[in-house]
Amino acid sequence: MLQLFRHERVLPHARDLRRTYDVVIIGAGVHGLATAYYLGKEHGITNVAVLEKSYLGAGNSGRNTAILRANYRTPEGIPFFAASLELYEQLSQELGWNVLFSQCGHLTLAHNDSAVAGLRLRAETNNLFAVENRVIDRDELQHLVPALDCSDHARYPIQAALYNPPGGIIRHDAVVWGYARACERMGIEIHPLTEATAINVNGSTQQQDGGDQGWAPSGSITGVTTNRGEIATPAVVNCTAGWATVVAQMAGVSLPIVTQPLQACVTEPLKPFLDKVIVSANLHVYINQTDRGELVIGAEVDPYQSYNMAGTLPTLEQMASYTLELFPQLHNVKVLRQWAGICDMTPDFSPIIGVVEGLAGFYQDVGWGTYGFKAGPIAGKCLAELIATGKTPDLIAPFTLSRFRDGLLVGEKAAASVSH
Ligand SMILES: Cc1cc2nc3c(=O)[nH]c(=O)nc-3n(C[C@H](O)[C@H](O)[C@H](O)COP(=O)(O)OP(=O)(O)OC[C@H]3O[C@@H](n4cnc5c(N)ncnc54)[C@H](O)[C@@H]3O)c2cc1C
Repeated sequence: MLQLFRHERVLPHARDLRRTYDVVIIGAGVHGLATAYYLGKEHGITNVAVLEKSYLGAGNSGRNTAILRANYRTPEGIPFFAASLELYEQLSQELGWNVLFSQCGHLTLAHNDSAVAGLRLRAETNNLFAVENRVIDRDELQHLVPALDCSDHARYPIQAALYNPPGGIIRHDAVVWGYARACERMGIEIHPLTEATAINVNGSTQQQDGGDQGWAPSGSITGVTTNRGEIATPAVVNCTAGWATVVAQMAGVSLPIVTQPLQACVTEPLKPFLDKVIVSANLHVYINQTDRGELVIGAEVDPYQSYNMAGTLPTLEQMASYTLELFPQLHNVKVLRQWAGICDMTPDFSPIIGVVEGLAGFYQDVGWGTYGFKAGPIAGKCLAELIATGKTPDLIAPFTLSRFRDGLLVGEKAAASVSH
């Protein structure tokens, strides 16, 4: 394995930016790279540039806690995330690159009656879609995770858990590098240190006055201006997560998204004692132990909007204290690092994927909030199909921007509000 990584690690080749591309993707995270990959692999479209203002995976794709699962809540979300998990299960073989996916099992803990009722509803809905999930009692939970404090003496005693056996942990960097390497092999160009600074539109980019359709300009995409020059293209894809509104605004499009930081931290390595992903639905903390023994701990999204990617002491304290409610024996463990990413939060906790009505050639793959790494493969695959064929795949049809105008929200908060 070490040999494989040493000899085959592929970073994008430095190359000139061409003057025209069939498709320009802004953002080289998992969503931008997966879209580029499936455009080339499934549709033979390789005259594609992926623009990245920083380095590959500099955004949330390199900052997340790498938890994958498929047990969402809505009839729209469950099949979508289940399809993504299936693609992840095959991804190492597909890319010829080990993405280190460990399907160790995922547990969502409930500490009160209403949380238990919520988990039961999720389990039943998932079962209707043949996604493996069941509610387990404390005895079974204690058996699965002996180190967890399942006692009645805990401050927030655990009542039950939702067990999702196929869920687990992946190596996020490997996913990003694997897609990037496969794109490069097809001739798709990835351009780090290349920032989109304007999106050029033939027509009006003036927002309409007031009203509930303020995001709808009219016209068609003609190109992108970057810090390395102008590009002509009929198709631009916005895959910029926390920067989604800034980039959409370049084309005169207002998205119903706010940007909020999300923090995580990692501890010193410990002897292996935890082989499941633990998530508390009430305490908003999630924990897993890596192969190196470190505990990766994630927090709830920061309670304010910001583009700040520095960690803060209150959130560190929150992560530590909630972790100790679950595992009091960790009280002497040291935190090594803390970081943040910036998340693109929609009002209904579901993404925005697809075209912008009235603006031909402008595609969105945004609104991934705190939970979008697990969706990268299927979102990229569906979006590539839409760009190549002009037809919207059923799996992404519910996630249009126009749902906010039409009142067809996909309320996924019950399953997506714990931030992973
Ligand atoms: C702490 C944390 C924990 C998380 N945990 C999980 C988890 O366990 N499971 C899960 O599924 N999800 C998780 N997420 C969410 C997940 O990481 C994101 O939803 C996902 O990575 C978004 O991927 P992306 O490709 O859309 O965006 P990103 O990976 O953020 O990529 C966007 C890229 O766009 C670039 N960019 C921005 N503006 C421009 C411009 N003008 N020109 C060129 N490039 C530009 C940025 O530099 C960036 O690299 C977590 C997020 C955080 C922050």
